[in-house]
Amino acid sequence: MRATLGFSNPVSVLFRALGVWLTLLFGFSWLCAAQAEKPDWCRALPRPEYHTLKRVIPDEPWFEVYQVAPATFAIYEPHQLEETISYLLVGTKQALLFDTGMGIGNLKAVVTRLTSRPIVVLNSHTHNDHVGDNWQFPFVFGMDTAFTRANARGSREDAQAEIADENLCGQLPKGFDRAKYATKPWKISLFVHDGFKINLGHRTVEIIATPGHTPDAISLIDRENGLLFTGDTYYPAPIWLYRPETDLAAYVASVKRLAALAPQMKLVLGAHNVPAAEPAVLAQFLEAVEQVVEGKVTPKSVHGNEANYQVGTFSFRMRNPLPVVQQSAAP
Ligand SMILES: [Zn+2]
Repeated sequence: MRATLGFSNPVSVLFRALGVWLTLLFGFSWLCAAQAEKPDWCRALPRPEYHTLKRVIPDEPWFEVYQVAPATFAIYEPHQLEETISYLLVGTKQALLFDTGMGIGNLKAVVTRLTSRPIVVLNSHTHNDHVGDNWQFPFVFGMDTAFTRANARGSREDAQAEIADENLCGQLPKGFDRAKYATKPWKISLFVHDGFKINLGHRTVEIIATPGHTPDAISLIDRENGLLFTGDTYYPAPIWLYRPETDLAAYVASVKRLAALAPQMKLVLGAHNVPAAEPAVLAQFLEAVEQVVEGKVTPKSVHGNEANYQVGTFSFRMRNPLPVVQQSAAP
C-alpha cells in the first residue's frame, strides 16, 4: 500500500532515487575505507598451510597455538606483520620456550596454559620480534655475544615501528598501551654456546650456532623427534639479510650446516609465517642463497640501499649494492 502510494508521487520517487544513490555512494566509500585499512599481507591470511595443523586453546585472542609434533607447540602471532612464531618444547622435567615473540600479547599466560613444568627461555636470536616477553621469565639462556648483551638492555625504536597501523591486522590485545610499547630489558641467566645440550626430561635438545642473520643466531635440534628449529636463518617468507648486524659469509656457512643436517630430520620449523616445512627445502634454499650471494641473480626490485631478490619460491631482502662475500674454498 505505502509503496504504491510512494511511487505514485513524483517527489517521493525523487527522494527514493536520491536515497538509493546516497546508500550506494556511502556504502561504496565505506567498503573502500575498510579495504584500505587492511594491508595486503593481512588480506592473505589465514595462510592455507594452517588448515591441516592441529589448533589448541583456540580462545586465545592474540596468539594462535598449534601442536606441530608430540609435546611441541607453535605459538603464532598473526595480527602483526612479522607473523612471528615462538615454540614450546615440553619434556618430563622442564619445558623450553624457543623465542618469546613480540611482547604485545601475554605469552607467559599462554605458555602456562600449555604446561605446568618450569620454563627455560632460549632465543633463536635477539631481534626485538623474538625477545618481547623475555622479561617475564626468570631463566633466560643467552649466546655470549656483544650483540646479545646490548639487546638484553631493551629498546623502544624497533618495537614502536612494529605497531604502525600498516603493520597490524585486527585488534591489539585489550589493555595494550601503544605509547608505552617497548622491548623490555631482561637478565641473561646463563651463557650458552654451539653444541650446548638441554635435558628437558626424556627429551634432549642441542644448540647449533648458525650466525649470519645476527651474530647470536642459533638453531635448535631435537634429534630423537627429527625436529630442526631454524629461527630466522630459514623460514618460508622473504629472508632479511640487509641489516648491519648481518654477516653474509657466516650466513651461507650456517645454511650449509643446516642443509647437511636435513636428511636426518622430519620437520623444519622456522620463526615466521608458517611453522612446518619439509627438510628437503633446505638443500634448495642453500642453492638459492648461493646464487644470490655470488651475484648471479638480478634484483627483482631496488629501493635505495636495499634490493629484493627472488629465486623460485624463495625471496631475499639484501643490501644494495650487494656486498662481496669471500667464500671459503669448496671441500
Ligand atoms: Zn630476526
